[in-house]
Amino acid sequence: MSIYYDNLTKAVLDKSDSKDWMSASREWEIFDCVEDNTRSTICICGKEGLRYVFTIKNMLNGNLLSPIGSTCIKKFNDSELYDEASIWEKEFKLYHAVSTNSFINLKDSGLFSRKLLRKLYEEGAIKPTRYNNNDPYKDYQFLLDMFNKRNPSERQLSKCTAIILNSIIPFIKRKLKK
Ligand SMILES: [Zn+2]
Repeated sequence: MSIYYDNLTKAVLDKSDSKDWMSASREWEIFDCVEDNTRSTICICGKEGLRYVFTIKNMLNGNLLSPIGSTCIKKFNDSELYDEASIWEKEFKLYHAVSTNSFINLKDSGLFSRKLLRKLYEEGAIKPTRYNNNDPYKDYQFLLDMFNKRNPSERQLSKCTAIILNSIIPFIKRKLKK
């Protein structure tokens, strides 16, 4: 195994309750993520140049571990943890797409995924409005249907864009603008 892998497992085991890597690597969840535009952050494994800098939290003892990159998070044998990390990265990409005024399209931009839509809904990114009868789930379901649909109509796409611009984008800005 590489020195980086050694450094990673040592740092994680040091702050875990379990003493073997397989169990220890399942004790963690994503706590936070910030972006380092200068890419000067060094991962706990020793690798340089992190752009998305994660902090992970041990669910058993509350220990925090940072800075850590998604390449290391992938080595945790815990697909849920890695999915969470990927969603954070997707949210940052969405945030940038907005700040550079890219046209945000549910279908074409490659910015959205089913998991991201689900996460946004769970995080409360979709607001209750009079258009969804104060039930955000309806908008979530609509976005998901349109995401899965081969050829949504112009009208359906406009409704998606409205939900994205009015609810999701302001939420992403609040969440990531720290
Ligand atoms: Zn690393």
